Amino acid sequence: MISGGSKLKFGGWRGAAILSVSAAVLALAACEQNKGPASVDEARLVAADKEPGAWMSHGRTYSEQRFSPLEKINASNIKDVGLAWQFQLSTNRGVEVTPIVVDGVMYVTSAWSPVYALNAKTGELLWKYDPEVPKETGKFACCDVANRGVAVWKGRVYSATLDGRLVALNAKTGKPDWIVKTTPDGMPYTITGAPRIAHGKVFIGNGGSEYGVRGYVSAYDAETGKLAWRFYVTPGDPSKPQENKALEMAVKTWSGDWFKQGGGGGSPWDSMSYDPETNTLMFGTGNGAPWDRVKRSAGKGDNLFLSSIVAVDADTGAYKWHYQTTPGDDWDFDSTQTLIQADLTIDGKPRKVVMQAAKNGFFYVIDRTDGKLINAHNFVTTNWATAIDPVSGRPIESGDPRYTKGISLVMPSGFGGHNWHPMSFSPKTGLAYIPAQDVPSAYGSDDHYAYKNGEWNVAQNPALNTMPTDKKALAAVKNSLKGKLVAWDPIAGKEAWHVDHKGPWNGGTLATAGGLVFQGTIDGHFNAYDASNGKPLWSQDIYTAALAGPMSYEIDGEQYVAVGAGFGTLFYIIGGFALDQHLGVPENGRILVYKIGGKAVLPKPNLTKIPVPQPPAQTASAAVVATGQMKYQTYCVYCHGYNAIGAGVIPDLRYSGLLGDSKAFKGVVLGGERKSLGMVSFASVLNDADADAVRAYLIQEAGRAYADEHPAKAGK
Ligand code: CA
Repeated sequence: MISGGSKLKFGGWRGAAILSVSAAVLALAACEQNKGPASVDEARLVAADKEPGAWMSHGRTYSEQRFSPLEKINASNIKDVGLAWQFQLSTNRGVEVTPIVVDGVMYVTSAWSPVYALNAKTGELLWKYDPEVPKETGKFACCDVANRGVAVWKGRVYSATLDGRLVALNAKTGKPDWIVKTTPDGMPYTITGAPRIAHGKVFIGNGGSEYGVRGYVSAYDAETGKLAWRFYVTPGDPSKPQENKALEMAVKTWSGDWFKQGGGGGSPWDSMSYDPETNTLMFGTGNGAPWDRVKRSAGKGDNLFLSSIVAVDADTGAYKWHYQTTPGDDWDFDSTQTLIQADLTIDGKPRKVVMQAAKNGFFYVIDRTDGKLINAHNFVTTNWATAIDPVSGRPIESGDPRYTKGISLVMPSGFGGHNWHPMSFSPKTGLAYIPAQDVPSAYGSDDHYAYKNGEWNVAQNPALNTMPTDKKALAAVKNSLKGKLVAWDPIAGKEAWHVDHKGPWNGGTLATAGGLVFQGTIDGHFNAYDASNGKPLWSQDIYTAALAGPMSYEIDGEQYVAVGAGFGTLFYIIGGFALDQHLGVPENGRILVYKIGGKAVLPKPNLTKIPVPQPPAQTASAAVVATGQMKYQTYCVYCHGYNAIGAGVIPDLRYSGLLGDSKAFKGVVLGGERKSLGMVSFASVLNDADADAVRAYLIQEAGRAYADEHPAKAGK
């Protein structure tokens, strides 16, 4: 642990110490604390509704509803809302942050984990902390090097870095007070999630289940950075004692040798929700590693606590309850989506619930006092299960979703009926607003799978990691990808209304007391809808996607709405084929902030399509190209995209100047010459012939794109 020392000192405390502890003294101390920036404590967070102009924690309140009580911006004046200010981030990689705003300061993070403090009224930079994450860490980030934001507590700003550090920054200066490493060296863990804080403890999870890790949540003392507890999502070696009773229960649901393949997955990489009434921390857990349960657990068992919502005592980490949304996961069905608490009246009874629109396509309403299912219904097309049995709480599977007979087309897929893009809930309308999508995937086991530390270990047939090259077939695939904003009635267990979008992978949502729902869309707009019926009320052309969760705050009597905007994140990396354009190198991400009468102008980027250069002549045989394609689809596709079509933020290899130069190409792919940019050596899994075969496959795909752009020359 690195300790920077400087503890906050509060004037008046020394004098108070000689007095007996009384309510008056405590009130004085609280008042003193409130003088500095980010002086947020549990009392202030629990009473967050008394400060509707602030957004002091990730989901605004401990309930994580992402509902703003502000109503100055509403249906009657949304037409007058314009850009107040914008702040350009330092990278063009994925923007997933939800800003925190308290006492006039906005705290945001961006890809590669830097933290910025901004004047929330003007966007002026107050300080920036750059943890200098080594770029080679990017290889271990399945879905971009994003970061979802900070937590604030008693004068400090807490943030986690992609390479597994938890950092406590002085809110005044941006200098670290302490830093702890929360993940082991030598394993492909990453952190993209925002920490949460309650009862003096900082909670942080981690990601890595696509690579094979043993997921866990850690709690640290917010003052000192000392580890308080750790809850492992999966059991360890079954021949040894487990860490706790919960894992003794969990290990009985496993078979096979998951513990020799990195640990079985389950990484809790995003959602958490703290219930101050019962001092309970709930968190969502990730998919199994590898995805294929046959390879992970001999095809048997529920594999606790994968794909679950888990509740623990916030002070000790002791297990309280769990609800597993996807028993024995086979599909990358993380259950890490937004966890929203609400008090609802269901069947005439007041119920304390926690809600999740899970990746697997079902919306769950769960009693948060005991983890029992109240209702669950599908909010998108689900063909892997027809329903959730209301008594057992288990999915009723249909067909052959576990691809036991070969290849199965499953809906939804690992992209999720809903992914990390935050959901919101309005207690005024009683509706949850889900960034939903229909994105199917083909699943099939990889007969040649063998666990390799540090690589993708999903045990899926790499032949499936491609798209049709026939134009009609590709168009059919694109048309099958749907995105929509779904307003869900959690009491009735059904959709109230929806808005169709132009494609999948749209932004998180914000619900406001002004009767609005804000959401960015993948077609480059930031929009507002009527929260009661979905009527489109406002749309701004922002030239890029806004996928992060929007938020709202008030300063000097004016309401602001903020959203992170930019390219990057999973679909923008792997799904270039669906974006239908090559935009060159996209601009850096931005924080966009709107208010009534805002007159700032967003600079219009140059979105001219860049022609594909003429590739070198193909000299390799068809067999070598086929080998290259399979190696590409095993090791390269997750960053460089299906069919070698890039989306801009990571180089599109069809444009590479190295395609005609075997030695130079190998210098990068095997020699690691661009490690400092994030392109590490793949010499541990590819040999010289493999690298040349990948290059031959890229020449083929570059030739295909070039011919499309030059039909006359190609003789078509
Ligand atoms: Ca996953």
